[in-house]
Amino acid sequence: MIFKGPHLRLPERCLLCGSTCCDTRQALCTPCLADLPQLKAGCSHCLAPLTGHIPSQKILCGRCIKSPPAFDQVISSYPYARPISDFILRGKFNQDLASLKLIGELMATSLSANNHLPPSLLTPVPLHPSRYRERGFNQSAEIARTLAKLLNAPLEKHLIKRNIHSVPQMSLPAKARQKNIRGIFSVNRHINGEHITVIDDVMTSGATANEIARVLKKAGASRVDIWTFARA
Ligand SMILES: [Zn+2]
Ligand SMILES: [Zn+2]
Repeated sequence: MIFKGPHLRLPERCLLCGSTCCDTRQALCTPCLADLPQLKAGCSHCLAPLTGHIPSQKILCGRCIKSPPAFDQVISSYPYARPISDFILRGKFNQDLASLKLIGELMATSLSANNHLPPSLLTPVPLHPSRYRERGFNQSAEIARTLAKLLNAPLEKHLIKRNIHSVPQMSLPAKARQKNIRGIFSVNRHINGEHITVIDDVMTSGATANEIARVLKKAGASRVDIWTFARA
């Protein structure tokens, strides 16, 4: 079952506290919106959290210094903490349309506020076809669709293809993730020097993002950015 977007009905109550104070077009009330957790400064390349005193200038994490990832920059809107993680889980497993739409809207707002625009060609991280059949939709594609609409950006939903069913990345330690994912993505066409922005709900180890950026660059992309709603 695939839902279609435009006739989506928004809740009339705040998705978090249930207050009815909200404009019907707003999914969160103003106090709940102000209370969302803020992302702390991290590695300027992959946004990995850094410990200790973080100077204001750009600083790289040890992993990015040792082996620079294939993507050019990661931009995430929020830390993977409650209630941000709840929106993701509700969207992914309960197919909660209001949560999915909210994720796209919050991302668009934070991207605009931080001058990360204008956007390039947007494309979602693909789900494996069998998981797509189980779930009926790809959460990242739904987020990308909302973003493309709100930011007036071009969207190519099927630029990247997922080939082999891998063991879920979440179940593996960081080191095994890179190995598990190698070679499972391919690109559906030649990319003529385009700047591509890959959309995903959450970035954890960065292994998926790195592998996708690698294949996109091999296919001809000049630059690959990763935009995620949350950074673990
Ligand atoms: Zn509220
Ligand atoms: Zn890094």
